[in-house]
Amino acid sequence: MNTPKAPSASVPAEEAVKPANFLRNVIERDLEAGTYANRQWGGGPGDAARHAAGVPDAARVRLRFPPEPNGYLHVGHAKSICLNFGLARDYGGVCHLRFDDTNPEKEDQEYVDGIKENVRWLGFDWESPLGSNLYYASDDFDFMYRAAEALTQAGLAYVDEQSADQIRANRGDFNTPGTDSPFRDRTPDENVARLREMRDGKHADGSMVLRAKIDMASPNINLRDPALYRIRRAHHHNTGDRWCIYPMYTFAHPIEDALERITHSICTLEFEDQRPFYDWLLERLVDLGLLAHPLPKQYEFARLNLTYVVTSKRKLRQLVEENHVGGWDDPRMPTLVGMRRRGYTAGALQLLAERTGATKNNTWIDYAWLDIALRDDLEAKAARAMAVLDPIPLKLTNWADVFGAAATEPCSAPAHPHHPEMGQRAFALAPVVWIERDDFLEVPTKGYQRLFPGNKVRLKYGVIVECTGCEKDADGHVTAVLATIVPDTKSGTPGADLVKVKGTITWVSAHDGVPVTLNLYDRLFAVPQPGGADSLTDELNPHSIRVTQGYVEPSAGRLPAETRVQFERHGYFVTDRVDHTPDKPVFNRVTTLKDNWAR
Ligand code: ATP
Ligand code: MG
Repeated sequence: MNTPKAPSASVPAEEAVKPANFLRNVIERDLEAGTYANRQWGGGPGDAARHAAGVPDAARVRLRFPPEPNGYLHVGHAKSICLNFGLARDYGGVCHLRFDDTNPEKEDQEYVDGIKENVRWLGFDWESPLGSNLYYASDDFDFMYRAAEALTQAGLAYVDEQSADQIRANRGDFNTPGTDSPFRDRTPDENVARLREMRDGKHADGSMVLRAKIDMASPNINLRDPALYRIRRAHHHNTGDRWCIYPMYTFAHPIEDALERITHSICTLEFEDQRPFYDWLLERLVDLGLLAHPLPKQYEFARLNLTYVVTSKRKLRQLVEENHVGGWDDPRMPTLVGMRRRGYTAGALQLLAERTGATKNNTWIDYAWLDIALRDDLEAKAARAMAVLDPIPLKLTNWADVFGAAATEPCSAPAHPHHPEMGQRAFALAPVVWIERDDFLEVPTKGYQRLFPGNKVRLKYGVIVECTGCEKDADGHVTAVLATIVPDTKSGTPGADLVKVKGTITWVSAHDGVPVTLNLYDRLFAVPQPGGADSLTDELNPHSIRVTQGYVEPSAGRLPAETRVQFERHGYFVTDRVDHTPDKPVFNRVTTLKDNWAR
C-alpha cells in the first residue's frame, strides 16, 4: 500500500482537480445506455409482481447505504454515506437507508437511532421528493424464506446436516477442491421438508444449514455451496421470536438489493469474490419468477483507510470497553459521534469523501487530508477570537502614566478578517493581561522575537509593549512578566505603526478574559497504520489528550454548545456538545491552523 501525499495547498473543492471516481463513469454509461430506463417501482421493496404492478420509476438510479445496526458509524461509513447519497443526488436518483439487520444477536434500536441521526447530520436524507426510502432487511424475511424454498424445490439448494467443522473441512482451500457433502444428493422434496422442519423449530441450533448447490470444486471458494440459512434461536429487535432460522448476510444482501430495485450496489473491495454468487443468486430467482430484470449490479471500491485511525467496529469497541477512551463519543474516536463532538463538520467529511474519490486501490489516506478539509470548510465560517492556553500574567507597569485613572482601554477587532458582515468583537486592555507562557524567555534563543528583556512586541489589536523583566517564585519559576506600554501605539490610532516591532503576540485581559477548560488532542494512535500489531493497546499514543485551564476573550466566553471558533494562532475549536455550558465553558481543539502532522 502506498500513502498518497496530502494536497499541498488548501483548495476549495470546486477548484480542485476532479478526483478519480470510476463509479461516476459506470452510472453515466448506464444512464446513456438506458440500462435502467424501463424499471417499474412498486412503492417499496417487493417481488417481481409488486413492481410490475407499480409505476415507471421516477428515480433514475437507486443506491443504498446498508449498515448493520450493531455499533456506531465511523469515518469509513461517512465515506460510504457521502458516496452513495452523493451519487444519487448528482444523477437524479435516490439513496435508500437500509438496516441490514439479519443477524439477531448484535443489533439494537439504540444503533438504529444513532445511524439515522448520523446520516442526517452528514447532510443527507432517505426522504426526498422522489419518496421516503427507509428499510429494514428483516421486513423481508418472508420473501427470503420463500426464495429459499423455491431454490430448494428447484434443486438449487439443500439442507446439510454435517457439523460446522465438517463443512469447513470439506470446503477445501485455494489449492484443493472441496468435497461434496453426503447430504448433497437428497431429493428436492426431502430438502424442502427438512427446510420446513428447520423453520418450524424441529432441530437444534447449529445442527444443520441450508446451502446453495453450486460447485464444490469452484476456484472461487464463495461458490462452494455457500450457506443460505442457519438455525438460531435468538430474539430479533424487529421480528421478535417469530423466526428461529435466519438468512446469511451473503444471501440476504443481494435479495434485499433486488427487492429495493437498487441499480448500483456499491460495496468495499472485500466483497469482490462474492459478486459471482450475488449474480448467480439473483439470476436464479429471476428464472424462478420471483424477481425481474434489470437486476442490481455490485461494484466494489477501496475502503477508506486514514493514517493513525482504526476503522473496525470490533477494535473501536475494544477501546471503549477497556476504557482507553471515555466512550463511543470520545472526541479522539473516529466514530461520527466522536468526530462531531471533536468539532469536525459534516462539510469537512463531505470534502474528504469527494477528494478521495472512488478507486480500486487500497491505500492509506494521510490524516492531514481530513484537517485540510476541516480548515477549508471553516476558514470562511468560523469567527475569530483570542485565547490563551497556557496563561501567565503580563503586568503593564506604566499603565497609569499612559491611561491615567482608567481601569481599562477598549479595543476591537473584526470577527473575521475577510467578512466584515460578521461584525466586530470588543474587548478591553487592562493593567494585567494573560499571555502564553512561551511568549516570554528570560534569555532569548536565536531568532526568538517575542518577549524578552529589552524587546518590544505588539499585543495584537492593542498596544506595543517593551519587556522589562519578570517576577519569580522561590524556586526560580517565572510567575509574571513585566513590561511598559509604548505610548501612542494603540492599533488603529494615527501613528500607531511608527514604532516597528518584529513580533506580535495574542493576549486576553485579566479584566474581561473568561476562564475556560481546553481539551487539546493529539492522534489516538502512535503508529501510522494501526491495527496491525497483536495488541491494539501497544499502538496507542499515551499523550493523546492534554487538558488546560486558559482564558478566552469575552466574545468567545458565553457561546452555546457546539459552536466553532478559530482561536488566533491556536487553531479551530468547538464548544463541547456534552460538557460545555455558557457558565462553564469547555472547548475542544479540532485541529491546529497548520499541518503539524508531518513534523
Ligand atoms: P466494520 O468492519 O467496521 O464493522 P462494516 O463494513 O462491517 O464495518 P457495515 O455496517 O456493514 O459495517 O457497513 C455499512 C457500509 O459501510 C458497507 O457498505 C461498508 O462497505 C461501508 N464501509 C464500512 N467501512 C468502510 C470504510 N472504511 N470505507 C468505506 N466504506 C466503508
Ligand atoms: Mg459488515
